[in-house]
Amino acid sequence: MKPKDRLDRRSAKEIERFLKERYTKLKQSLRSVLTGRYPDGGRRSAAAAAKAIETLRDEIQVTVMDSRSRELAQIETALERLSRRDYGICDDCAEFIGLARLRALPFAERCTPCQSQAELQARRTARRLSVDMGAVAYRSAM
Ligand SMILES: [Zn+2]
Repeated sequence: MKPKDRLDRRSAKEIERFLKERYTKLKQSLRSVLTGRYPDGGRRSAAAAAKAIETLRDEIQVTVMDSRSRELAQIETALERLSRRDYGICDDCAEFIGLARLRALPFAERCTPCQSQAELQARRTARRLSVDMGAVAYRSAM
């Protein structure tokens, strides 16, 4: 491996700090979503009128919380890998993912070529599946 083909300590620290900050922020915002539901302490006067908006807001919050929880899990994985020192190593080819890519995508688990390969593969599988499903639909329609 060339010296620049791995994560240097300074960049590792930098990414770790970024991930930890993001983690804390996400945790805080998740907590405020959970506790800040009724900012007026539950004394909602126009309760009936607000009900529809309330429901919609709950649904949005669930979606937001879902994506934030997912991001929290990704950060946890990245921090774990940082501490095991296998952060930035491609899952598929075990090469260094590259600092530029990691800075842009701190949760990247594959290098660029492997990622495009994986996406191509996923698209092919999806297409094959939809062709299969189409065939099934066609057969059952007969
Ligand atoms: Zn790779």
